[in-house]
Amino acid sequence: MKETDWDVIIVGAGPTGGRTATHLSSLGHRVLMLEEHSEIGRPFQCAGLVTPKALQEVGLYDSVLEEVDGARIHGPSGTLVPVGTDGKLRTYVVCRKKFDQGVVQQAMESGTTLWLNSQPVSAESSEENVSIVIDKNGVEMKLSTKLLIGCDGAHSWTRRYFKMGRPKEMMIGFQAEVLGYEGNERWLDMYSGSEIAPGFFSWVIPSGFGSHRIGVWSTPERLNGRSVEQCYDDLLNHPLWKDRFSNIKEIARFCGPIPSGMVRKTVTNRVMLLGDAAGMAKPTTGGGIGPGFKQIKGILQPLSKAITSDNLTEKSLKKITSKHFAAMKKDQDKARALRNLLVSDVPDKELEAHFTNFAKPDVLELINEIGDIEKPVPLGLALLKKVPAFRKLALKAGTRLMFR
Ligand SMILES: Cc1cc2nc3c(=O)[nH]c(=O)nc-3n(C[C@H](O)[C@H](O)[C@H](O)COP(=O)(O)OP(=O)(O)OC[C@H]3O[C@@H](n4cnc5c(N)ncnc54)[C@H](O)[C@@H]3O)c2cc1C
Repeated sequence: MKETDWDVIIVGAGPTGGRTATHLSSLGHRVLMLEEHSEIGRPFQCAGLVTPKALQEVGLYDSVLEEVDGARIHGPSGTLVPVGTDGKLRTYVVCRKKFDQGVVQQAMESGTTLWLNSQPVSAESSEENVSIVIDKNGVEMKLSTKLLIGCDGAHSWTRRYFKMGRPKEMMIGFQAEVLGYEGNERWLDMYSGSEIAPGFFSWVIPSGFGSHRIGVWSTPERLNGRSVEQCYDDLLNHPLWKDRFSNIKEIARFCGPIPSGMVRKTVTNRVMLLGDAAGMAKPTTGGGIGPGFKQIKGILQPLSKAITSDNLTEKSLKKITSKHFAAMKKDQDKARALRNLLVSDVPDKELEAHFTNFAKPDVLELINEIGDIEKPVPLGLALLKKVPAFRKLALKAGTRLMFR
């Protein structure tokens, strides 16, 4: 076996890259992580929601800005569906800069080497290794590695360079950080309707020290020529809710892509994609941190063995990943189908009728009992099965879920 400079080179020091590096370094592999920016966690494009499970995994409680007990979800004509219970924590809101820095610091403490201002220029994978040219602080150098992992986000260089396909959907997210929003403590607000978030929803999330993050997301096809900023303006001026926004003062604005729908090829010879690079964000919430963590955790032991034995051909990587990735893809596909059926492909009038049903006490009880940001599919299926008003959709859902 020929010696390589590194066992693993990871492109991208976001949460997925940092977590992957921590795992692999802890198992004794020589890991180099490349980050194109001069600091970790910037620019930040995220609402900062992290599930208790994902936060527990890294233990970065000092990055928490707010705790959230529930969501007040508003139908297009104003029907309110409150999901959650006061005092029962549903999710955390974190400072993404602190969170990302914490995740990457854990990688370095486990033995990972981090190079900032560094990015790949070209790469070639062969039977022996991946030979990669890197630009580090404006100077090019050539390195070899057994395995290259692309954790380089929505517009992944690794994915494009090795022609590994595209995420099924690329949502556009826009967000403003504001002061002066009139919300409820420990609760986030979600607003729906074709004017303000066609096919999706907008959110207002408490982000600590009296500030809120107001965001909108949708797909280019559904926006139909409008921009997400226009949707944001329409939300602020919406006749039903404008009073809540009348005193806001903007501190910052961000815009970013949300890739959802696993790419055609997550592995090729000695190359693998993880996290946003692989299109792992959830179709129902846009959350990508939890799925990135889950993706690497589920293949860790066999992957580590394959790195040690240098058995990293496409065939070997497929064998290691196929079961776990296929299960994640199936979940993603089901969640997207249910989202389309219940929300995204539904005209406002019908959506409002769904909200009226969601707001009925027995349905609300069901939502609160089964509803889980991590696992939206069981709730979607329970709604179709147990709520008489949704039964006519069940047949349609069955067909959609079966044929994808
Ligand atoms: C408006 C908005 C709101 C969101 N809200 C949430 C939320 O509340 N909760 C949630 O879980 N998710 C949310 N997301 C999604 C979340 O931000 C991503 O899913 C998550 O950051 C993915 O992590 P990652 O490590 O895979 O990719 P990234 O966080 O994108 O990290 C990729 C890293 O790679 C680096 N990089 C890229 N290209 C190169 C290169 N060629 N060379 C070297 N380095 C490179 C980047 O600089 C970056 O540091 C939101 C997204 C948007 C746009």
